[in-house]
This record gives sequence, structure tokens and C-alpha cells, in this order.
Amino acid sequence: MSKGALSRRARKIKPSPTLSIDAKAKAMKSAGVDIINFGVGEPDFDTPGYIKKAAVKAIQDGFTKYTPVGGIVELKDAVIKRLKDDHGLSYSRQEIVISCGGKHALYNLAQALFDKGDEVIIPAPYWVSYPPIVELAGAKPVIIETREEDGFDLDVSALEKMITPRTKAIILNSPSNPTGSVFSAKTLRQMGNLVQNHNCYVISDDIYEKIRFDGKKPVNLLSLNPKLKEKVFILNGVSKTYAMTGWRIGYLAGPADIISALTNIQSQSTSNPTSIAQKAAVAALNGPDSFITKMVSVFKERRDYIVKRLKAIPDVTCVKPQGAFYAFPNVSAYYFRGYKGRKITNSIALCDYLLEEARLAVVPGVAFGDDRHIRFSFATSMENIAKGMDRFKEALKKLS
Ligand code: PMP
Ligand code: GLU
Repeated sequence: MSKGALSRRARKIKPSPTLSIDAKAKAMKSAGVDIINFGVGEPDFDTPGYIKKAAVKAIQDGFTKYTPVGGIVELKDAVIKRLKDDHGLSYSRQEIVISCGGKHALYNLAQALFDKGDEVIIPAPYWVSYPPIVELAGAKPVIIETREEDGFDLDVSALEKMITPRTKAIILNSPSNPTGSVFSAKTLRQMGNLVQNHNCYVISDDIYEKIRFDGKKPVNLLSLNPKLKEKVFILNGVSKTYAMTGWRIGYLAGPADIISALTNIQSQSTSNPTSIAQKAAVAALNGPDSFITKMVSVFKERRDYIVKRLKAIPDVTCVKPQGAFYAFPNVSAYYFRGYKGRKITNSIALCDYLLEEARLAVVPGVAFGDDRHIRFSFATSMENIAKGMDRFKEALKKLS
């Protein structure tokens, strides 16, 4: 195939680095390499039995046909109930769409909302897929850095200075992938005031909202400023909360006219999300929170352990994650050191070195917009974390 055969869009797009590293680690593992995979962010828990049962029942009942494009009423109602119970927010079915994962919901939203010339403000470090999704819609990601010294909280007045007449949206993610940081209530209130005074939307990516280590209830921009409902989209899904990454169910709540346009885009691309997975998601959202509580307490133990181990390594700093299941240490003190003639110049070189020399799969920070860091997903067993930290420490020690 000649290079010219590809669209400009396809020529530019690169695979998701988190998914690529996971694929590489899994391939090495199946080839017999003793690799420890800190790469991908997906809970290492099994999907709870009552959720699986609902899917099996859906198959047995013959619930295996097309459904309404934007999701079954039962699932929309379960989402509406969650938004009410968790955030005190009221939504109608026209303001909800169910997609094939949170990533798909965000992709479709970008297609529905952004045009060439639009700007979308994204705080860094950011989830790897935000900039490509914005670019695939023809818009321009505008990155605002947050600082390790501030616990990666947002400087709202600095963000306000970046708003232009072309700013169409701001993406907020709390708890954050990759830092695990949670925006303070003060930041969310300030963001609320800012949005009130500007003609732009906020996309609140709440996918990790239930994975918090401070025992606090989920909170977002809208739960603190409900009058901003016409300007805020809430993105969520069942992947992380219920260990359902493979089921591919995500959802979005927002203004009805845009949700309707988004649903049209969905109707011309994927049609409905899988019927069986939708029934499973109903069981998940309407079910008890006991599974989440258990999973979060296990993540918390691992968080405490991995942060302690990382901080004990000379010249490594790490902000303590308040949620999600990632640690994002600053390892830049090890750049421009080397081992056996190999120079470590950046986060990619360090992660390559860790993969080859220490058999550790870790994601380079540059993929999240901060080259000084690397990301460890601690959604893996304590045993793996302990062994992985031993290897990490030894590998860094060899660099001189
Ligand atoms: N947002 C963030 C910040 C994520 O880390 C993920 C995980 N891939 C998603 C959205 C989307 O997840 P999914 O498509 O599995 O719902
Ligand atoms: N969000 C997860 C991660 O960051 C899953 C992979 C992806 O979709 O990027 O690892």
C-alpha cells in the first residue's frame, strides 16, 4: 500500500501508548519472559458474579438483538439514579447516552462538539487519549501544566488566561490518570465561577470517582455548581468501578441537543453498545457498593506500599495519589546517566531500559505530557509490586 493511500488523519494517529505497552508486556509474558506488568490501567479484580449472571441471563433470554442506539431505557435510568444518588443531580433520558466505553463516549462527544480551529484546554499530566481524540475532531489541544509541588492541583487563574474566543471546552479528570490527584473543592468552585463567565464547556471525566482513598464521596464541578448543567458533560463508565474494562460500557450526561447529535454520530458508526453488556451494566449500577469498597481498600494498601517503596529510592519523588490506581514518580534525576554504554535521556529511554534490563512494563511520562515522570499502575498483586519495586530499585542503582 502506498503511503498516499492513507488519510491525513490516519497518517498522524499513533496507537494508545498504554494499550501498546500492555500488548508488548503480555506478548513477552506468553513467550515465557518473567515480566511484571505495571503498564495498563485496569483493575486486576474479576467482574463480580452478580454482574456476570445478568449477562448470562440476557443471553438466555434472547436479549441479543439491536437495542436503541443511545442505550436501553433500563440502563439510562440506572445512570440517572446514580447521578442523583451520588451527586444530587437530576437528568432526563434525553440527556444521557450509553456508548462502547468512556473512550468511545468522549470520542463521539468530540465529533459532535469540535470543529477545526476550536481549542480544548487539557491540564497536564493528562490521560493519553485526550489530545488524539481532540485532534481527530480537527480541534487543537491547548495544554496547561500542573505542578508536582502543588500536588498537581490546577491553577485556575493561569487556566483562565489561556481561554480565548476559540476555547470550546476544558477537560477535567479527577481523580487523575496518571497522577491520582483529586481536585480540591476550592479548585472546583473556582472552575465553576470561571465557566460561568466564559462561553465554553467542561467535560468532567469522572471515571475514577469511586476509587478514592480519603473515604470521601465523589464530587465534581457540577455537584458543587448545579446551575452550570447546560455547560458541563459528565463522563463515566463501568470499566474501572466494577472491573469491567472488557465489557465496553461508558456513558455521558449533558445538554439534550448535543447528546442527540452525538447519538446520531453513534447511529452512523457503531450503533448500540452490546446488548448483553448493557444488561450487565444495569446490574452493576443498580447493585450494592460492597465490591467497590473492597477493591478500594485493597488499592489503598497497595498505594501506601508502592509510594513508600518509591520514596525510599534515592532521588525519586512521588506525590501520594489520592485516587485511581496509578503512581507517577518523578525519575528525572536519573536522566543523563547510563549503563553499559546506554544513555538514559528521557522517560521513553528509561522505560525501554526497565523493560529490557529489569523486565518491568512501565509507561513513559511523556505519553501523559510530562517527560520527567513514569507511570506505574498498581492494579496488580502486592507480590508483583514488591518484586517490581526490588527490580526498579536495582535497575536505577545500576545507572551512573
Ligand atoms: N478516562 C480515563 C481518565 C481513563 O483512564 C480511561 C481508561 N481507559 C477512560 C476514560 C476510558 O475507559 P473506558 O473506555 O474503558 O470506559
Ligand atoms: N485508561 C487505561 C490506562 O491509562 C486503559 C488503557 C487506555 O484506554 O488508555 O492505562
